[in-house]
Amino acid sequence: MQRRRITVFGATGSIGENTIDLLTRQGGADSYDVVALSGGRNVKRLAEQAIALKADLAVTAFDDCLDDLRAALAGSGVEAAAGQAALIEAAARPADWIMSAIVGFAGLAPGLKALEHGTTLALANKESLVAAGPLLLGAAAKHGARVLPVDSEHSAVFQALVGEDMAAVERVIITASGGAFRDWPIEDLAKATPEQASSHPNWAMGQRITIDSASMFNKGMELIETKEYFGIAPSKIEALVHPESLIHAMVGYRDGAIMAHVGPHDMRHAIGYALNWPERAALPVERLDLAKIGQMTFRPACETRWPALRIAREVMEAGGYAGAAFNAGKEAALDAFLAREIGFTQMSDVVAAVLDRLSADAGLMKSDLSLEKVLHVDHLAREEAARIVRSLQH
Ligand code: NDP
Repeated sequence: MQRRRITVFGATGSIGENTIDLLTRQGGADSYDVVALSGGRNVKRLAEQAIALKADLAVTAFDDCLDDLRAALAGSGVEAAAGQAALIEAAARPADWIMSAIVGFAGLAPGLKALEHGTTLALANKESLVAAGPLLLGAAAKHGARVLPVDSEHSAVFQALVGEDMAAVERVIITASGGAFRDWPIEDLAKATPEQASSHPNWAMGQRITIDSASMFNKGMELIETKEYFGIAPSKIEALVHPESLIHAMVGYRDGAIMAHVGPHDMRHAIGYALNWPERAALPVERLDLAKIGQMTFRPACETRWPALRIAREVMEAGGYAGAAFNAGKEAALDAFLAREIGFTQMSDVVAAVLDRLSADAGLMKSDLSLEKVLHVDHLAREEAARIVRSLQH
């Protein structure tokens, strides 16, 4: 493969570290020209990565971290920058492959900017697709760029679709581990704490996505992502609880065949697939011993236990700005849960109420998608969520 220019947004996070690991194993600075790496508050690690990969630029998202980043990079020749404008400037620097692994809505603007120079965007930042899928994919089409899925479920669907006719797809099944509380009595969920919600039975991930897995907001987001990525009708998209998390997704075809993607709990598979696509490179992931595993089990994804799934389905049907309101409401509800302002089950109450209130303005929610309007709906939804959180506290 020819030498490529690489940028990694969110390099210091869980997806980012796995990406850096693969880049390093595939030759690091000897194989790639690293244009930019970005991080947040962990500037020490960002500087280590940037020096090891001989990056041109390291960007922290936070202005108050710039001095520490400069100090950590002193004498290395790596340029240091900070803040939102610096992230956008980094995204504007031409690169052949860009990893989008910032957490949350903050990942949208750099992703959109990166697409303008026709890059390949490996998209882990699911919030971008949920909040502004048509905008992101429209920008990719306009500029001849490509978006490759990194979420393991969507990478699995993408792989199960290779060589197939989309018209023959009858259903897409996204699996869910069920998260930290899948075996808890439903009446105990209201008492669950952030600490209890922050441990995942199968995957090691960032804290926010781990809690979103326990509430199933993560799976709700993935249902919406599936609709956006693959243009599949909401009625054909299903969630299925699969506690072992070995099958990541399945595609069912009109002849009754189901193509399942099976793999270990290691994000380096999906990241490595996107990094080396369309080739399959050797990856340092565990080879499954299926005889030892013995069995795989499945359960229905109950929308009473996990209202996030029902809400996500309504969002898929509604389209327009519903995804932006859903994402912002969910991020705000999660912040409130982490701050112990609301309980675990109240997160879905907050998101449902945000959507209800914003949907009352049909003119707002249905107009053509633009970045300005996505930002506006995001802002309104966060304000509404804050009001609802306050009312729940009284
Ligand atoms: P982490 O929280 O582990 O990492 C997030 C990264 O974003 C870090 O580099 C962090 O910097 C940086 N960051 C934090 N806040 C900001 C901000 N306001 N602006 C810019 N950068 C910021 O998250 P994950 O790696 O778990 O997830 C990243 C994305 O990938 C999310 O959208 C998630 O939903 C998605 N995803 C994650 C999976 C996983 O296995 N972890 C699986 C599938 C999708 P720092 O740490 O230096 O502060």
